[in-house]
This record gives sequence, structure tokens and C-alpha cells, in this order.
Amino acid sequence: MSEVSTKALTAAANAARPSVIQLVFREKGALYAAYISLFAEGGLFVPTARDYKLGDDIYLLLSLPDDAQRYPVAGKVAPRSRRRSRPRPSERRAVRGAAAAPVMFVDSHCHLSFPELRAALPEIRAAMARERVDRALCICTTLEEFDEVHALATAHDNFWCSAGVHPDNEGVREPGVADLLALAARPRVVAIGETGLDYYRLNGRSIADMAWQRERFRVHIRAACESGLPLIIHTRSASADTLAILAEEGAGAVRGVFHCFTETREVAREALALGFMISFSGILTFKNAVELKEVAREVPLDRCLIETDSPYLAPMPHRGKTNNPSYVPLVAAELARLKGLSLEAVADATSRNFERLFGLPVPV
Ligand SMILES: [Zn+2]
Ligand SMILES: [Zn+2]
Repeated sequence: MSEVSTKALTAAANAARPSVIQLVFREKGALYAAYISLFAEGGLFVPTARDYKLGDDIYLLLSLPDDAQRYPVAGKVAPRSRRRSRPRPSERRAVRGAAAAPVMFVDSHCHLSFPELRAALPEIRAAMARERVDRALCICTTLEEFDEVHALATAHDNFWCSAGVHPDNEGVREPGVADLLALAARPRVVAIGETGLDYYRLNGRSIADMAWQRERFRVHIRAACESGLPLIIHTRSASADTLAILAEEGAGAVRGVFHCFTETREVAREALALGFMISFSGILTFKNAVELKEVAREVPLDRCLIETDSPYLAPMPHRGKTNNPSYVPLVAAELARLKGLSLEAVADATSRNFERLFGLPVPV
């Protein structure tokens, strides 16, 4: 909070009803901190001469003194809630430990080889640098796509990649364990996936008809066990089978992450019990993601990752637009708000978790 004018924050905190104040942002991290304390709890206090009434819907563009870019914020003017969740002792330690570290973010799951992002790569990399998103994991979804995903990871020293075939992809080359192991041995390949089960779009088929998907998933788990690389799990409307197959094939030897988590707290608990991490995407920032927000409060900080899954699922306030890795701090900000932690603590913990899971060095 120290980056934001203390006077302004005190004024905001003491306001019994919406008021007009001047916020002084000294850096971008402070803007996100401002989202947490002023915007997310329902009260939006704005640097303008106009008065707002309770219930007004407002949309604003805020900018920082050192940055010409304007950041959109939107919301309803509401009384400020004084309720704050208390961080657990281990999380309080994380807050203190991270206090002096620079804020850096990692996007643990993005699809930069998809045409809409590939075409804008220089702009995306510039936006990442501006937003302090210093690293990203580029995810492979077909064998056909692998070379392109891998090229991103070899051309840029802050990108890495995975090898795998997404459960939704049909009519593509079916991977064998040997195919995946050969790709896993290439430099800068740090994970197997994304893989898993997706029964959301059965297209008239029954779950029994999806045996091919379960077999494909088993192949990926075997490749992960043999290569020692972690798995990136995609699961949708199929959590029971996903967990059962993981427990059966992985037998506790396999590690990984449930990416873009949208399941219940029971599924989260089982995934954690299997030793997996949970990755939160922009969905966490959506107002209607009520149960997911509860899951996020519950998952221990040392098991959380953040991601964009770009080009899909842009976080608020970009919902509906093309997503990109530079938006991942908005996911971190929501996770920090839900856990009652500082943005720095979440940025730091999710970066360390990323390094630990994928076997990457801690940047100096
Ligand atoms: Zn996915
Ligand atoms: Zn994905």
C-alpha cells in the first residue's frame, strides 16, 4: 500500500459514503493495489470533480504519471465495506517476506501460437514488460502445433512450452507415449499437456463414447511419469473421471496443475490431495464466479498459480475481449483481494510456485 498516497487511502477508508478524492499512483503495482482496496470492495473513489450517487454505474480511465497508457475501471458506486478477511499465519509471513521484492508476475498458461496472438507478439511482449509479467508458459494443444509453440520458447528466454494434445481436439494426430517423450526431451519443454477430459461438448455422444479421450489422457500421464515432467490438466464436466484416472495411472508419482480451475471445492481438495496445484484464470474476476472465489480463498497460497489461458477468458475489466499475458496481474489482484493479502505476496508466491513446479530457476 505504501506506493499509493496514504492520505488518499485513509480518506477512502474513512468515507462512510462515496466521495470524490484524488488518488496519487506512483507506479503500476499501486494501480492494482488500488483496485483491491478501493474498487473490489464495492466503493469506487475517483479523481474527478463530478459527484456520484450510490448506485450509479461508472466507467473510468485511470493513468499513472509515468505511463501514458490508460487503464479502464468500471463498477457501481456503493458504500465501502469494512469487512476484511484475516490472512492465515503462513500467509502473513509471505506478506512480510515479499515486502521488499519487486512485483513480477508469471502467466502459467497461454496460447501465444494462436493466430490472433501470434500476429501481435511484439505488442504483447511490450505490454508484458510494462505490466511486469516477466515470464510465460506457452501451451501446446496438438502435435501439429508443437513446432510453432516450441519456436516461441526457443526464440524468447522468458518463454517455455509444453507438449501435448488437448482433449477437445479431434481429427488431429493421436499421440503415443514415445511421441510425447521425444518432444519432452527437447530444450525448454517443461510440461506435458494440456491434457485431461472434457465432457462439456459431447455433440450427441455419451460419456461411454469418450473412451478415446480417456485413453489419450492415460497416454499423457504415462509420458509425464516417464519423463518426470509435470502435467497440465484441463478438466471440464469430467472431474470424477479425471481424478480417478490420475490416481490410477499416476499412483502419486505424477505432479502438475489443474489449469483454469472452475470446479467445486471438493474437486479442489482432491486435486490438492493428489499433490497438484490449482491455477486461477480471469474467470476468478467475474462477478458470478461465486463458488470459485470461495475455492480461491481455501487453496493454500503455496499451491496457487495464475494464468490467462489467453486468447480466451480475459479478466475484468477486459471481459469479452482478446486476452493476453499482460492481463495476468488482474487475476493476481483478485486472488490477493480474496485472500486478504498484498498483491506483492501473491505475485511472489505464484512465481515461486511456478518455478518449483516446472523446475525453473529463481530469477536474480
Ligand atoms: Zn484448457
Ligand atoms: Zn489452454
